[in-house]
Amino acid sequence: AGVHHVQRRDIVLKWELGEGAFGKVFLAECYNLLPEQEKMLVAVKALKEVTESARLDFHREAELLTVLQHEHIVKFYGVCTEGEPLIMVFEYMKHGDLNRFLRSHGPDAKILEQGQGQGEGQGQGQPRGQLTLSHMLQIATQVASGMVYLASLHFVHRDLATRNCLVGQDLVVKIGDFGMSRDIYSTDYYRVGGRTMLPIRWMPPESILYRKFTTESDIWSFGVVLWEIFTYGKQPWYQLSNTEAIECITQGRELERPRTCPSEVYAIMQSCWQREPQQRRPIKEIHSRLQALVKTPPVYLDILG
Ligand code: AMP
Repeated sequence: AGVHHVQRRDIVLKWELGEGAFGKVFLAECYNLLPEQEKMLVAVKALKEVTESARLDFHREAELLTVLQHEHIVKFYGVCTEGEPLIMVFEYMKHGDLNRFLRSHGPDAKILEQGQGQGEGQGQGQPRGQLTLSHMLQIATQVASGMVYLASLHFVHRDLATRNCLVGQDLVVKIGDFGMSRDIYSTDYYRVGGRTMLPIRWMPPESILYRKFTTESDIWSFGVVLWEIFTYGKQPWYQLSNTEAIECITQGRELERPRTCPSEVYAIMQSCWQREPQQRRPIKEIHSRLQALVKTPPVYLDILG
């Protein structure tokens, strides 16, 4: 359905940004993409292995991505299918994936970003040093907004996690990946059988036990994303092995309240982690609640912030 095609000669690769299971991601300059700009920076995904089934998946994904358009979903510009590799063209998000971003703005960050001054003034835009409560709420609200959109289309993501969100200029956050990130973060996935990799630490009991993925299982994962945001990108159940984590989740143990997380936000996480899928709070309500918290952040945290 109306996938836009870009000519190979209009794409000039600059350097590699990352690597995923299906290929590499490069920063590139793209000419003649938008009428108002002669050239612009884009992120291109190159499909490394072009088997017939990979080619089919590629075209199916491109059609899907063409339909998904929202301010909190990474913009998809089109494909280039002249020869090989097959290429997908996306908006470039200059701060990369959200998990790395959180870690680089947390307590374990040393000098990950240049010019990072301790205790410097933090405006609305790019945070220097550690993220504040206000930043975390802004990030969470944007991910929730993208999820409200996906749920409205009855699209089930299945792999919502901070590693699959991207951060752009001025702390803009978008949902950015629909299944190509399984290599670099391979410890986040658990291999079952031959090739299936499951993000068990983000999955509710019914997905782990019966492989049931729904809008409600995405809500559970959103709760885990909130936990990741408030822990500056820690891995859920990092102290446990995959089999131990499965045991824990299916027995109904919950992730603990992160130290910097106000009780109002932890209550949202817990509403995502109801064992009964229908009991989980709808993503629309979660989004509204987060929006309200962005406007009136819980007061006591300004002291910690
Ligand atoms: P992926 O295979 O989509 O997980 O991408 C691998 C890595 O490339 C990600 O973890 C990001 O750091 C980077 N990346 C992917 N897409 C983009 C983008 N649109 N803008 C900037 N960096 C990206």
